[in-house]
Amino acid sequence: MFRPRFPGLLLAALLLAAVPAHAQDTAQPPEPSAAQPPDPGAPDTAPPAAEDEWDFEDEDDGWNFDDEGEAAVPTWGEIIEPQVLDLGLFTAFVVLAMVSFFRKSERLKIVVFILAIAYLGFGRGQLISVVNLFALASWNLPIFRYSLFWYLFAGFTIVSTVVWGRLYCGRICAYGALTQLLDKVVPRQWRYVVPAKIEAKANWIKYGLLVAVMVYYLVTRDNFVYRYVEPFWMFSMTGNAVMWSMLAVLLVATVFVRNLYCRFLCPVGAFLGVIAQGTTLFRIKRWKECNTCKICEKACEWGAIDGPKINRAECVRCDDCERIYDDKDTCVHWIVIRKKSDVLARQAAAGVVPTS
Ligand code: SF4
Ligand code: SF4
Repeated sequence: MFRPRFPGLLLAALLLAAVPAHAQDTAQPPEPSAAQPPDPGAPDTAPPAAEDEWDFEDEDDGWNFDDEGEAAVPTWGEIIEPQVLDLGLFTAFVVLAMVSFFRKSERLKIVVFILAIAYLGFGRGQLISVVNLFALASWNLPIFRYSLFWYLFAGFTIVSTVVWGRLYCGRICAYGALTQLLDKVVPRQWRYVVPAKIEAKANWIKYGLLVAVMVYYLVTRDNFVYRYVEPFWMFSMTGNAVMWSMLAVLLVATVFVRNLYCRFLCPVGAFLGVIAQGTTLFRIKRWKECNTCKICEKACEWGAIDGPKINRAECVRCDDCERIYDDKDTCVHWIVIRKKSDVLARQAAAGVVPTS
């Protein structure tokens, strides 16, 4: 996650001095800037010095200072206070996102997208990145008490994925929000609909990229590879010429192939997809009519519906199919029920006794 805050960088510098040499190149990229992914070892808020580095107790320094000058260990209140605003803002954002999710409200979802782009993207630079996966793989995680925002953000991402599937991709991720908003404004006739067979194969690219990038990191410990496998740095507007060129190609391609990066290329999406495939406690319901009806399958912009099945690894809980389920004039399940009850009502009116 990007964390363009000076205290975070300051602590990262302190951590550099503390971590073993082999870990330094992973904990602290060499060119600190707002474009960087999060330094996984850097908390949001720099901790105050808890103890003096030197022990003066047995030294006669000639000054005869007493111990009153020693820095006190910070209390939890002091640690949390500078993080309260961030925690409150993110909690409010999550509440709004969940309200939009449970109400299946398209309008609220668009508000959430705009906030995700403005607040988490351009404002906070906070996205789940491959750099976080590198940190997880090398167990180089931020210090909990000074990084409560990070743990809230990452914790929500993992827990929501286990419970509902890739909700993070469908609601929270600033880049995903950007491409989903783009999808709303691009004329439908410009779209290239990827044939289902090609889509099923292309879906595997992101898993291949996830494996490749993790192996590359574990071998080289070079976390700057993020620059060429994900476009999240764009929210800090500080890429180099190659990165901007790649981004331009990606965005132009996304105009014609909806959600191109998320569907086929994103390693983070692949990582969350693996979790969602193995968990997703609350799944989207399907009717027996879904075996033959293709309305939802055609409506799904993520290619996540295949006949009666929903591919949980690809589904981002965008609600589009669930809104169709709820529409009693569109969903075949409800139309069949209505027709049956109409027939029964007509039979009852005519005095016909139903045979079954
Ligand atoms: S697939 Fe990647 S870019 Fe797309 S919404 Fe998910 S995490 Fe974000
Ligand atoms: S339309 Fe349904 S199956 Fe497709 S991504 Fe959205 S919620 Fe998932």
